[in-house]
Amino acid sequence: MFDLNNLLRDNIKRLVPYSSARDEFKGEASVYLDANENSFGSPLPKDYNRYPDPMQWKIKYKLADIKGVPPQNIFLGNGSDECIDVLYRAFCRPGVDNVVLCPPTYGMYEVSANINDTVIRKVSLTEDFQLDLPALEQAIDENTKLIFICSPNNPTGNSINREDIEMVLNNFDGIVVIDEAYINFAKQKTFIQELTEYPNLVVLQTLSKAWGLAGLRLGMAFAGEPVIDVMNKIKPPYNINQSTQELVEEALNNTEKVNDWIRETVAEREKLVAGLLQLPVVQKVYPSDANFVLAKTTDAKGLYNKLVEQGIIVRDRSKVELCAGCLRITVGTPEENVQLLNALQA
Ligand SMILES: *Cc1c(COP(=O)(O)O)cnc(C)c1O
Repeated sequence: MFDLNNLLRDNIKRLVPYSSARDEFKGEASVYLDANENSFGSPLPKDYNRYPDPMQWKIKYKLADIKGVPPQNIFLGNGSDECIDVLYRAFCRPGVDNVVLCPPTYGMYEVSANINDTVIRKVSLTEDFQLDLPALEQAIDENTKLIFICSPNNPTGNSINREDIEMVLNNFDGIVVIDEAYINFAKQKTFIQELTEYPNLVVLQTLSKAWGLAGLRLGMAFAGEPVIDVMNKIKPPYNINQSTQELVEEALNNTEKVNDWIRETVAEREKLVAGLLQLPVVQKVYPSDANFVLAKTTDAKGLYNKLVEQGIIVRDRSKVELCAGCLRITVGTPEENVQLLNALQA
């Protein structure tokens, strides 16, 4: 049985969160002398002298509309990376608790675990980059607090089978984190509609990929309200700055543009895959549900260096397990993709 109280670290259960000036007075006033801000203004055309909304409600209401998830089920982080860190801090007792990771996958889960002194248990994906359910079951014990599942997975690009993820959600009483950074490019459905079904589910998404806002740093966690409340208690009070909040609010009005880009990216991905498969140096291109492809080549390091010479940077993933010989290539503009293919041809 899932029991949040059982999972949380004791210090987090006891934690009295920081109460900011803006937490203590809510509403509109004409004179604000409660937060030691500069009352005269800021040395910029726009006034940044006031602290931002610690709960980012305007963004959450817009996201609620777009995602079909109530605002109180949304946590916003300074990138998904902050959401990941907050989860470790909420649940994992340093030096005692463990997390299960499924490599090859996103590197931040491991780095963040190490920062938080969380024991890492690795259960490699199968040859076709799916969950190894029997091995997962073996790896879990009473100190396993988190399992990270990245779907579509980075760097392999494939989605993880939905029934397998459901199996984990139904049988693991800790927190199952599904990282959907690339979900906008996938045929597979998101899990954010399943929050009422699974109290142990946390879904991560980000504005860094399909939304084209990596520079603004906005990551989202979707979960049941009890989990979201804990995450809000832990985060730095003003983790999303005022300019990011304003720009994101504006960007969220532009869903049409983003949807056009998603369609174009998927179409370009298919062209890129076809182009890569024509090349003698490419042995295999793995099926991708993301905005990148993983290509097995005859000589990853050599090709990488040749591309760098021509000013084209891809990611050499050949040292990563199950990815020998592999380059990870982001889908570019049509011109960039042609440039890449020409460079690889030569
Ligand atoms: C790019 C990426 C993210 C995004 O991280 P941000 O901190 O939101 O930019 C998260 N997860 C995965 C798997 C990624 O590849």
